[in-house]
Amino acid sequence: MTVAERNVILLGPPGAGKGTHAERLVEDYGLVHLSTGNILREAEAAGTELGKQAKAYMDAGELVPDELVIGIVRDRLAEADTKQRGVLLDGFPRTIAQAQALAEVIAQLELTGLLVINLSVSDEVLIRRLSGRRMCDNCDAIFNLDRDGVDVGDDCSECEGGKLYQRSDDKPETVAERLRTYYEQTAPLIGHYTERGLLTDIDGNADADAVYERVIASLT
Ligand code: AMP
Repeated sequence: MTVAERNVILLGPPGAGKGTHAERLVEDYGLVHLSTGNILREAEAAGTELGKQAKAYMDAGELVPDELVIGIVRDRLAEADTKQRGVLLDGFPRTIAQAQALAEVIAQLELTGLLVINLSVSDEVLIRRLSGRRMCDNCDAIFNLDRDGVDVGDDCSECEGGKLYQRSDDKPETVAERLRTYYEQTAPLIGHYTERGLLTDIDGNADADAVYERVIASLT
């Protein structure tokens, strides 16, 4: 089985590098990138009903209710390209209920080859990365103040016309709450997928290139 025929979940706390590695995996292997966070931020920016409902939870560092995100994922997975290209799930599932719903959808759609990569990163490294994270308002590319020497208002080097901004939930007051939410609601997924023999744990504390090599090694 090649990487393109796989469906990969990237699991890990906020700041673990899920988005960064997702971008590279999508580029290198053509997987469909399904980031619930990106979809919710786009809905919020577009002022849709979904965006309005999600905003208060996101601003508070809490999870958006399961039924909203499960609906998004179910709809996207049902599109034809997922079966041909394989899917990279970034930021979903985040609760046991979401994992159970995902298992049902995967079975219904006959998507095979699920594997879960867990990025383990210390709180100290997470907090440093989140405070330095900058994103493109056009293409969602991820940069870092320390690593890339870029800041808010700079032009995006990945697309035409994008400008970098700091996610409102990357500000220190929200970061602490997001980590608390992670340990309480998402970390139990590590045991859930380990018990099912699906999980590979990767030390994600190193720089992005070194971690990406480990990610690739776990896929091939
Ligand atoms: P992310 O970009 O993955 O860090 O997600 C940003 C925010 O979007 C999270 O802090 C949640 O409020 C919301 N969110 C993203 N994915 C999910 C999910 N699978 N379940 C619930 N809320 C989510």
